[in-house]
Amino acid sequence: MSDVPSRPKGACRTCGEVLPLTTEHFHRDANNASGLKKQCRACACDEAKARYEANSVAVLARFRERRAERTAYFEKINFYDAA
Ligand SMILES: [Zn+2]
Repeated sequence: MSDVPSRPKGACRTCGEVLPLTTEHFHRDANNASGLKKQCRACACDEAKARYEANSVAVLARFRERRAERTAYFEKINFYDAA
């Protein structure tokens, strides 16, 4: 019983590393019983980055499409000539 940790520890869902359940190692998650995410900060960052990179191409394409539509619309109503 002497080696009972003073703080509860959590194993990261992704990398399996056991870390103290503090905001130093885990992001907050109000939906979780512990108040913290089940994934360590490092893994959460990796995942966010991977998701961003996977999405960025599609997001950019959509953005360009909308901008082209807007430009076409303004040209149609002679927005640029009016000034
Ligand atoms: Zn991790």
